[in-house]
Amino acid sequence: MVEQDDWRLLNDVEQLKGQYLNPTDGEDIFDNAPHLKHCIFCLDSVNDYRHQHWYIPIDLSCCICENCYKDFNDMFMWKLLDGWDIDWEKQQGV
Ligand SMILES: [Zn+2]
Repeated sequence: MVEQDDWRLLNDVEQLKGQYLNPTDGEDIFDNAPHLKHCIFCLDSVNDYRHQHWYIPIDLSCCICENCYKDFNDMFMWKLLDGWDIDWEKQQGV
């Protein structure tokens, strides 16, 4: 059970409420979106958890590790996509 004052909520996560998320893995993030280095909640490094599942919103603005996804799914009411439609091109040129 996650408390409302969990330290991980101190990060800039408010805008993630109700977002669509795609599942992926750390390897794909590392290869395709190297600007995403840490879980936005707990700040775990993508590089350290390359073989875990990670979750990213459609705009590729951040990434969420497997543990935080599980912990905050109820609170944030995420809508899970199938992961096939990740538009990795989107962040190029940013
Ligand atoms: Zn995390």
